[in-house]
Amino acid sequence: MSGEYFARATVRRVVDVAPDVRLIELVPDAGVAPYPPGSHIDIAVSIGGIPDTRSYSLVGEPDGQAYRIAVKQVPDSRGGSRVVRALSPGQEALISAPKSHFELAHGRPEYLLVAGGIGITPLIGMAQALHRHGRSFRLLYSARTRAQLAFADELRELLGERLELFVDAEGTRIEVAARIAALDPDAELYLCGPQGMRDAVARAWLAAGRRADRLRFETFASGGRFAPQEFVVRAADLDGAEFVVARETTMLDALAEQGVELMWDCRRGECGLCAVSVLACEGELDHRDVFLSESQRAQCRTMLACVSRAVGGAVTIDSGFRSDPERPRSVAMQRS
Ligand SMILES: Cc1cc2nc3c(=O)[nH]c(=O)nc-3n(C[C@H](O)[C@H](O)[C@H](O)COP(=O)(O)OP(=O)(O)OC[C@H]3O[C@@H](n4cnc5c(N)ncnc54)[C@H](O)[C@@H]3O)c2cc1C
Repeated sequence: MSGEYFARATVRRVVDVAPDVRLIELVPDAGVAPYPPGSHIDIAVSIGGIPDTRSYSLVGEPDGQAYRIAVKQVPDSRGGSRVVRALSPGQEALISAPKSHFELAHGRPEYLLVAGGIGITPLIGMAQALHRHGRSFRLLYSARTRAQLAFADELRELLGERLELFVDAEGTRIEVAARIAALDPDAELYLCGPQGMRDAVARAWLAAGRRADRLRFETFASGGRFAPQEFVVRAADLDGAEFVVARETTMLDALAEQGVELMWDCRRGECGLCAVSVLACEGELDHRDVFLSESQRAQCRTMLACVSRAVGGAVTIDSGFRSDPERPRSVAMQRS
């Protein structure tokens, strides 16, 4: 857990809003702080006895009463979501103040909001704010099955035809390129969904000649293309010595245990600080970041140690780190 301040909150209500999504309302002792749409809070969790945090977008605009989060059941998980989903009314949790990394820009002539699955959470407050301000927008919301479209009924009530639902199991899909082509040249697109959706939308956005900074997205933890599994790392930083990255840990943490101190910040594949060079790979790389471009990911010359993994073999890397024998190992280079 970083050095940020966590304050006590009490769970007020817990309700399942889809078969795999649980809404949890938290009342902070110190009162609800105002926050812009797209904000999230961090919750302290203990995973295998080790303190950690997980982030959850705040559902809807502030109501002055409670923070609402919606937590999806995650298979192949280290267990953070399980801990949060197990909270029950009356129980206490430690939470951060709201943070905003996904803010709605004002003054655009048109907005397109695109949600995939649980990615709906930060977009609900955005849709409410745009509706309240009378802006021109639509919300395109897709999920695997109709039952998984959490909050669809309340969104329909608020947005009417400005909400469009797409269900994989029913064969309905967002025609991304056509939707982008129909937008005002100065429109802005807000996206929260799985990596495949993000890649497809980013590709179509750039292919349409749109300004890169008018596409804004937030990513949750990426599941990657493969379930996480153990893999071997050979590190030029350690004179080619090899070590194992266990299924439940990351290459970044495993490198730190070996004394290879990389810089990092977000730890979710967004900032790129922990990128390492890939010298060789047996098997495949499972890139789980949103920092590298699709072609960089395909070239497999770089990977982000915080989230990306090797599958079915070993990877040989060089992080550029060379330990100074005179320097104590415990001096950390981490930024946060
Ligand atoms: C800003 C922000 C907002 C978020 N908002 C929401 C929200 O509204 N609702 C919501 O449900 N979630 C949200 N998340 C995701 C949430 O924070 C957790 O990541 C999620 O609940 C899973 O936690 P976990 O510990 O259960 O899973 P993790 O163990 O963190 O697993 C998450 C994914 O990573 C994979 N994984 C497992 N082990 C590893 C490993 N060693 N290395 C790499 N990958 C691995 C898993 O296969 C899984 O697909 C948000 C995340 C961010 C950053």
